[in-house]
This record gives sequence, C-alpha cells and structure tokens, in this order.
Amino acid sequence: MSGSGPRVRVFFDIDGTLLYTDGAGRAALRSALEAVYGTAGPIEGYYFHGKTDPQIVVELMSGAGIAAKEIARRLPSMWPVYLEALRRELEARRAAGRITTLPGVSELLAALVGRDDVALGLLTGNIEEAARLKLAAAGITLTFDVGGFGSDSEDRSEIARIAIERSRRSAKREAFVVVGDTPEDVACARAVNARAVAVATGRHGVAELEAAGADAVFEDLRDTQRVLRCVLSLAAAASASAAEAGNDGSR
Ligand SMILES: [Mg+2]
Repeated sequence: MSGSGPRVRVFFDIDGTLLYTDGAGRAALRSALEAVYGTAGPIEGYYFHGKTDPQIVVELMSGAGIAAKEIARRLPSMWPVYLEALRRELEARRAAGRITTLPGVSELLAALVGRDDVALGLLTGNIEEAARLKLAAAGITLTFDVGGFGSDSEDRSEIARIAIERSRRSAKREAFVVVGDTPEDVACARAVNARAVAVATGRHGVAELEAAGADAVFEDLRDTQRVLRCVLSLAAAASASAAEAGNDGSR
C-alpha cells in the first residue's frame, strides 16, 4: 500500500505508550543500584515517567549524596547488572501474564508497517538493550530499524536529535512524528521540529498532554484508522511547512 504524501518516520516511546511492564524496570534498577552503589537512594515515590535511564540513575544517586564523579565512574558497570535483573523481572511478570501491550498498539503497528510511505522508529529513555528486552517480553517482534535510546544520551532532546540523524542516513526526505505518553515526549519532539502525538495510557491525562503542546492527543491508540489519518496529516503538514520555509523538508 502506498500513500501520496511524504515519507514519514514515526518514532514510538516504549513505557506507557507501547507497553506496560508492571514495574519491572523499577524493580530491576533498584536491585542494580543496591548492588553497585550500595543504595537505591530515594527510589520510593521517585517518578520515572518521561525520564531517561541514565538521568534516573544520576538523580537517584545524587539524592543519596553520592558525588557526580563517583556516579559516573560506576555507571558503566551498573548497566550489565541492571540488564540481568531486568531480564529476570520481565520474565517473572511475563510468565504471570502481567506484561501488556497497550490497547490498539498491535493493530496500529501492523497498519503502519504495511505502508511503504511509513517507517518505524523508537525514541525512548531506555538504554537500547533494555528497550529490546521490554519489547520482546511484550511480544512485539517487528523491527524498528532506527532508534534513539537512553544509552545515547542522558538528555531526551539529544536522544531525539540522534534518532533523527540516524533516520536521515536511510532516507533524505522524511517528516517526523513522535508518539509518546509524557510531556517530556512532547518536549523532545518540539526540540527537533517533529510533530508530537500524545497518548494518555501512561500517567498523564489528555488535558495535561494538550497543555504540554502536543499536536494531537488520544485517550489510547485503539482507533487505528483515526490515529493513522492523524499521523499522516501531521506529517503532510510538517513537510508542507518545511517546503514553505524554503528548505528541502528535512528540517
Ligand atoms: Mg513513556
């Protein structure tokens, strides 16, 4: 199937957007931090949503009074410990049927992947290997051939910039749409001139996501055709306004 509009790269956030892991990431990080830093810091009540994995570690360990230099020194050795714990936590929840793909996600991904004017990407605060583990645990097996991850940067907007740079290596003229569940997803889309579609399946409601400046907000992704039309029309508008601004549409 092909469309007449521009080629569009749709970047998906993971947690709260594609899937829900029932706290597997939090549990895994807690045990990894305790093993490597001797404390999980103020993790009780700490808000993970919209944050990148390295940002979470730095904030929690700063909160525990650990010096920045020491946090950075131990960080590389913490990730393998975290991934091993994550594998374990995900498997326990998967076996208990507690990992869920969010409503409409499978249908939307199938609809997008069936179009030759659409390409998929990931834009997530998860480090890359954690992203892959979570997708596999939720049974999402399709390939996102381009991505930006928490392993690329602590800063979500920088992750978005890197993801777009990678995308441009595979196709010169694309319009970019970011789909996410937090104001941070909307902000990182803004930072790179991408359109932002927000979905209220995480911790943030429709009104809050609208207030954050999303171009479109959905309660969930259940209405495949409506979401698809929205993504394609935002992409068309993005490339039209880029053309009007006198550049090649790749900005
Ligand atoms: Mg999220």
